[in-house]
Amino acid sequence: MSSLDEPLQAALARVHERISAAARAAGREPSEIALLAVSKAFPAEAVIAAARAGQRRFGENYVQEAVEKIAQVRDMAPDLALEWHFIGPIQSNKTRAIAERFDWVHSVDRLKIAQRLSQQRPPDRPPLAVLIQVNVSGEASKSGIAPAEASTLAHAVAGLPRLRLRGLMAIPEPEQDAARQRMPFARLRELLEGLQREGLAVDTLSMGMSADLEAAIAEGAKIVRVGTAIFGERT
Ligand SMILES: *Cc1c(COP(=O)(O)O)cnc(C)c1O
Repeated sequence: MSSLDEPLQAALARVHERISAAARAAGREPSEIALLAVSKAFPAEAVIAAARAGQRRFGENYVQEAVEKIAQVRDMAPDLALEWHFIGPIQSNKTRAIAERFDWVHSVDRLKIAQRLSQQRPPDRPPLAVLIQVNVSGEASKSGIAPAEASTLAHAVAGLPRLRLRGLMAIPEPEQDAARQRMPFARLRELLEGLQREGLAVDTLSMGMSADLEAAIAEGAKIVRVGTAIFGERT
């Protein structure tokens, strides 16, 4: 590993320490929580360096950027078996690229998008793992379905043949105060518990980023999505 990779390795180790400390504080096993490294705006080389330091799951927001990066990583490091998660807003004309290249999608918030992903998932790949994005902060401008509509969408998505509904995702408004950070995460957890009571086999909450992963883990996050704390500021 070159010296250029050392800050990345140290940053990854610090994030793992934060996850472990937050898990222990919540009485949870650190191994229950998956770290998704959000590599948007960083090149294939950064993904490969993180992968060489042990990171396996990567998240991307923009389809075109991701498609190019996934191909570059495969060319430059064919030995790496990585898991790719799409976490950005989904336009209906981009669903095929997502269905063909990703393992997970966190940002499903409309049935039409879910239907297209199911139709376009290649038959030789396992069902696409999906999460429904819920707008738990309530701003009209943000993506994500309203909490009151999440159950109806979840049951419809769970019936699509080439998708596997795993749970819920949210991106709450930034808050400084830890107690205020926890409120929307608690809301998402309660929504997931409601789906479980309704009989859906869902087990995953994708919540928590660089600034609030501790609050998310305290409320049951299974996947934390971390960019800045691993790769540095995006310019
Ligand atoms: C960019 C992004 C992240 C990572 O945010 P950081 O604050 O850099 O950790 C996580 N989730 C989503 C959906 C994002 O767009």
